[in-house]
Amino acid sequence: MRSMPSPRLIWFRQDLRLADNPALAAAGDGPILPVYVLDEAAAGRWAPGGAARWWLHHSLAALGEALAARGAPLLLARGRAETVIPALADAVGADEVMAGRLYDPWARERDARVAEALGAAGRRLTLLPSALLHDPAELRSGSGKPYAVYGPFAKALRARGEPPAPLPAPDRLRGVPHPAGGEALAALRLLPQPPEPDWAAEFGTLWTPGEAGAAARLARFLAGPVRSYAEGRNLPAIEGSSGLSPHLHWGEVSPRQVWQAVRAALPEGLDAAWPFLSELVWRDFSYHLLWHRPELPEAPLKPRFADFPWDPDAALLRAWQRGRTGYPIVDAGMRQLWRLGWMHNRVRMIAASLLVKQLQQPWQDGAAWFWDTLVDADLAANSASWQWVAGSGTDAAPYFRIFNPVLQGEKFDPEGRYVRRFLPELARLPDRWLHHPWDAPEAVLQEAGVALDRDYPRPVVTPEAGRQRALAALATLRGRAEAS
Ligand SMILES: Cc1cc2nc3c(=O)[nH]c(=O)nc-3n(C[C@H](O)[C@H](O)[C@H](O)COP(=O)(O)OP(=O)(O)OC[C@H]3O[C@@H](n4cnc5c(N)ncnc54)[C@H](O)[C@@H]3O)c2cc1C
Repeated sequence: MRSMPSPRLIWFRQDLRLADNPALAAAGDGPILPVYVLDEAAAGRWAPGGAARWWLHHSLAALGEALAARGAPLLLARGRAETVIPALADAVGADEVMAGRLYDPWARERDARVAEALGAAGRRLTLLPSALLHDPAELRSGSGKPYAVYGPFAKALRARGEPPAPLPAPDRLRGVPHPAGGEALAALRLLPQPPEPDWAAEFGTLWTPGEAGAAARLARFLAGPVRSYAEGRNLPAIEGSSGLSPHLHWGEVSPRQVWQAVRAALPEGLDAAWPFLSELVWRDFSYHLLWHRPELPEAPLKPRFADFPWDPDAALLRAWQRGRTGYPIVDAGMRQLWRLGWMHNRVRMIAASLLVKQLQQPWQDGAAWFWDTLVDADLAANSASWQWVAGSGTDAAPYFRIFNPVLQGEKFDPEGRYVRRFLPELARLPDRWLHHPWDAPEAVLQEAGVALDRDYPRPVVTPEAGRQRALAALATLRGRAEAS
């Protein structure tokens, strides 16, 4: 009689998909136990925020169904992975645990502990790259150092040639019976729990978490917006970008699947696809920074920003969070974020810039709010983007570039469709005044049914005072640069 091969544990984390999943592919037709472990203690303050937990719930439901339909139901567990994973491996007699590699500092430390615990019992953890286009540890500049600037990084990545073809999804899987210790999805309590209000009520109108939802979103992008992406991506009133960020974050689609699909949709050549592909490269670059500079989420990469004269003010921060700054393009963005768990990239830049420049609030406070409210909250992309806006990143917008939210609004939402959608209280204001209602004559405001202060706030900091604040902070930075 042939002996049964030892089963493998397939440990799902941020690769919640069946296609292009190297761990699943490596298991072939051997017996497997697919597992997800909610390990909030290991992640600490970087455990998924509220909106991301909503996404995770639905994504796990979709993954569970897809796995069960192929013959290997998903086991859900919670607790410290270094305890749970070895115990499950022991229970089913698995010699090997396979998973997609993660890059967040806390996850690296946690995975090292899991590998050690497994090793002590004669088992092993195999981590396979599947979340990025490149391995951040591998790509180095000519001088052997990690890249600090996007341009040369992108050039190097492009020079390596196109990513390999994605792996197909397995048709059938051979699941082993579940050992004890599994939990029902509801028991993970990932959704808003009463008496908390259901702030995610509208999320489902925009999002379908899971691999099938990711494929549908990609198909929709390829059917239209991809062709005019270079211009369309800047206009928040239209669906000009892919909307793939939460799907990519949770690994419901891999970047190489997206790369290949976009290349196939634009057969003119790599340059035609580059405006979009270069955003996937920005994603990789953020991970490259996080891998080599694990302090990225907490501390400025440029040392002279270490004691920047921030002026923390709880009321200002709250006005920004609630979409009550008095700057319509910013407030529309912040309300989009609250209602739908996502904000358009252009508006993220404008809103973040107002917070750190004119309002002088620490970028970490803005990043923390995004962490809790974005369905695509991603430690690498969020931290790198906030440092980019604040000017403290290695490859950042210079601090003296102060976005004017009125001009930005007029340029990128000229007909005010975006502002009117998320700020219905301003809907009847004529275009001319929409991005700066405080300048509108009283008769115009009355006609539009807007009473400033009652229906919509005046700016928390006037444009001129905000600019002066930002410039004063810049002067102290310059002083420091000269002194050092
Ligand atoms: C202050 C600030 C915070 C941000 N926080 C996050 C975050 O937590 N998670 C996140 O995924 N993106 C973040 N971004 C980047 C960007 O805004 C989003 O990735 C983008 O808006 C997602 O929409 P999309 O999928 O339609 O993007 P598309 O324009 O279709 O881009 C395709 C993909 O490229 C990646 N990408 C695009 N822009 C960037 C970028 N600047 N940096 C890294 N990757 C990028 C995303 O994975 C995105 O899905 C942030 C940007 C700013 C300015």
